[in-house]
This record gives sequence, C-alpha cells and structure tokens, in this order.
Amino acid sequence: MKSVAIVLAGGSGSRMKSRQKKQYLLLGDYPVLWYSLRAFQNCPRIDEIVLVCGEGEEERCRREFAEGYGFSKIGKIVHGGRERYHSVYAGLKAAGSCDWVLIHDGARPFVDQNMLDRIFEGLAECPACAVGMPVKDTIKMRDQEGYVEQTLPREKLWMIQTPQSFSYPLIWQAYRELMRREQALSEVEEDMIRITDDAMVVETILHVPVKLIEGSYENMKITTPEDLILAENLAKRWRFKKTEKI
Ligand code: C5P
Repeated sequence: MKSVAIVLAGGSGSRMKSRQKKQYLLLGDYPVLWYSLRAFQNCPRIDEIVLVCGEGEEERCRREFAEGYGFSKIGKIVHGGRERYHSVYAGLKAAGSCDWVLIHDGARPFVDQNMLDRIFEGLAECPACAVGMPVKDTIKMRDQEGYVEQTLPREKLWMIQTPQSFSYPLIWQAYRELMRREQALSEVEEDMIRITDDAMVVETILHVPVKLIEGSYENMKITTPEDLILAENLAKRWRFKKTEKI
C-alpha cells in the first residue's frame, strides 16, 4: 500500500499581511511548514511527500526543506495554481497513482501522529475521510442586510480541518471531473466556483459519503496575524511534548 501526503504551501497568504508568506514565517525556531512536514516524515504509514509551493519557489523549497532539514520523504516539489483546488490538482498529478493520499494545508502546523493513526483507521472503513472537531460557538447564517437568517443546530456542526484523506482513484476522478467542468465555464462563472475543501469535491461531484475523524483543537490553520500569536504559544508546548528527532 503506497500512501502519499500532499502538503499545500502554494497560497499567497494575503490575509496575513506580512511580506513573507505565512508558510515560511518562523514559529519558534522553525518555519510554519516545517512542523507538518516533520509529522509526515515521522509517520511510518506515509511513503512520500509531495510539496506544492508557489511558482518559482520550487528550488528554495528543495534547498530549505528537502536538503536543509533533511525531509527525505519529499519526493516531488511542484508549483500550485491560482486557487487552492488548482494546487491540489497539481499535487495529485505529481503524486501519480498510489493507494491513499492525504491532502494537508501547510498552514496547519500541529497535525500529530495520533491523528494520523486515526485517519488510517478511518481509511480502512471508508475511502474518503476528513478530520474536524465539533464547533464550540453557536453558528448563525447572516443575510445580506446583516440580520440573522437562521441559527444552525450546534450539536450537528463540525469545523473541518486537514488532513483530508482519500483513496487515490476516488479523489483523482473527482478532481479530474472538477477541472473538466471548470474548463467548460466562462471566466465569470469560473469565479463562482467556491471549493473550500477536498471532501466537498468528492461529496458534490461523486456523491460519495465522507467519514468525519476526530482532529484536534490545536490543529489550527494560520490565516491572520492573531493566529500566529496563538500558534507561537502552541509551538512552545509542542517542543516540550514532541522530542523525537526527524
Ligand atoms: O488560503 P487558505 O488559508 O485556505 O489556504 C490553505 C492552504 O492551501 C495553505 O497552506 C495555502 O498555502 C494553500 N494554498 C495553495 N494554493 C492556493 C491557495 C492556498 O497551496 N492557490
């Protein structure tokens, strides 16, 4: 069984408002991206890592992460595209045929080995799994005038994280169909494609059920400057907790 982790670091990180892209910002002594690469490097079930970076950053990533930090499982480094789903497609193409693929946001540093074990247990039962956690806040839908349209039932709501994991043939089929449909659209219609995660592609295009796996509240995505402050604190604890070497 061959399993590939696709780590996405091809975003522009405009909401971070920093000169440096968020995946390369330092969190403690290491860049944000280093943490998740280390988790996949250390996971015995992962055979290869495909790193998806921004255009023109391939060489920097090879020098810094594959050689510098010695992440020997990084097999391919490719550049992504305009939207996250374009970057995922580039990663899937680079991964080539394999059994399982785990798609992960490089902006989520705190994926851990227990979570990866739970994902592989989930994959034994269901070919499409996404990690997430129950929401803590009440979630409401807002109408165009700024009033509450609906209060959603909190006990049914989960916030979805990554890694999202799939049998390769399944996710490849879903993404190929997505790209085919996108090509058939005009530029204006293309802008209306709102794909925010990979499970959604499988759900909406193939109508395949997706199993939810317990992630962790620490598995946060770094998006805005205040996330970085929180992540810096978590990274300190993380260094005490995780002593194993690469
Ligand atoms: O923008 P967002 O925070 O949703 O991005 C989630 C992850 O996807 C980040 O790790 C980012 O680098 C990656 N991404 C990408 N290509 C894009 C947009 C986002 O690889 N075009």
